[in-house]
Amino acid sequence: MSTRPAATGLTAINDGEARPGAALQGDARPGLSGATMEELVAWFAERGEPAYRARQVADAVWRGEASTTAEIRTLPAPLRDELDAAFRFDTVADTELRLSDAGLTEKGLHRLVDGALIESVLMHYPARAGQRERHTLCISSQAGCAVGCPFCATGELGFGRDLETAEIVDQVRHAARRLAADGKRLTNVVFMGMGEPLLNLDRVLAAVDALNDPRRFGLGARHITVSTSGVVPGIRRVTALGPQFTLAVSLHAARDALRDVLVPLNRRWPVSEVTAAAREHAVATGRRVTYEATMIAGINDTEIDAQAMANLLRGDHAHVNLIPMNPVAHTPWTASPDDVIERFAAILAAAGITATIRRNRGQEIGAACGQLAAERAGEPAPAVVARRRARLVDESTQALRGERSHDPAPIGLGE
Ligand code: SAH
Ligand code: SF4
Repeated sequence: MSTRPAATGLTAINDGEARPGAALQGDARPGLSGATMEELVAWFAERGEPAYRARQVADAVWRGEASTTAEIRTLPAPLRDELDAAFRFDTVADTELRLSDAGLTEKGLHRLVDGALIESVLMHYPARAGQRERHTLCISSQAGCAVGCPFCATGELGFGRDLETAEIVDQVRHAARRLAADGKRLTNVVFMGMGEPLLNLDRVLAAVDALNDPRRFGLGARHITVSTSGVVPGIRRVTALGPQFTLAVSLHAARDALRDVLVPLNRRWPVSEVTAAAREHAVATGRRVTYEATMIAGINDTEIDAQAMANLLRGDHAHVNLIPMNPVAHTPWTASPDDVIERFAAILAAAGITATIRRNRGQEIGAACGQLAAERAGEPAPAVVARRRARLVDESTQALRGERSHDPAPIGLGE
């Protein structure tokens, strides 16, 4: 987590294929929740134990009261010891909670076994006319992020490491447990926390599997959203698998020159390729793609940008979420005013594109993911911050004046 991003953050990015995770220090046991039913059955079979033991473990992990392997009462004691020697029951046990929005937002800062910090945010939405109450958890897929979007606290941290499958789903187990204590159920999971899920795709897909599986968490695909900054090979791989979750694409800008600045990955996979892949996804799966745009005052909220986005998405099976930028340290930018966002939405609506304006949650606890972890990482040197701000002002001004052309990524990031 201490690595600061390179100027573009692009050097650490590959094409969405699996990478071996960094070796975990201290405790090499894999998390129990990351094991599939088949793996558990095989593990018990090796010990001459029947297949129903796997079911007992899954019940304890996903539904039971146990908080350690020693508390899985359905297993004989020697088997519990053996299981405990092989797997960790909980990979995000060390969690600090902060509440805000009168208790409607709960932010969890989780310290992982190697000291890496990740965040999850639980948001409660009370019942409204025609809508049942919802409890949505936003989870992290990586510690830090290599993409380096300059309005994102995680992006500023740089890349730490990929999360293990268990580290991803244990964020869900924790929130579900807290809710269960109040007689409530988690209704939605969104991969919109720290990290780029499609750059840790094998583990993210395994995590989605565990969440989907009725024998494990049992959450329907329609209640899971994975957000990407536009890793095109990853989007294609997800499309080939069929509908597993809702795909959200962080668009932010429809013009390449500006998106190069806001999402450095755009230099590798430009807007037209990202939206083409998203369009294919919508057609192949029959599921609407959601686009996200973080609205930054005077940067990507102009009428020209609204028109460009309207032209780009016209006729697509798509929906746009407009989100006022959460204030983050070290950017020269602020959130767009409400009336500007409303005008942006109206321009999209005139082109037949539905748009929703999302209110920020948990600003006072730094709910834009990565802010708590960034705070803990300490302040970068003032000169580094000043240089970063100056570069962003320069690059965004050039893009707005049309003085910046799309800058394809240097060779070496090959697919
Ligand atoms: N890496 C993935 C998923 C995690 S980020 C992605 O970029 O899609 C989840 C969402 O939070 C993205 O849409 C991202 O642009 C947005 N986000 C990041 N920082 C933000 C901020 N300061 N204010 C508002 N939205 C932000
Ligand atoms: Fe990474 Fe998403 Fe943040 Fe960009 S917005 S730096 S892709 S986490």
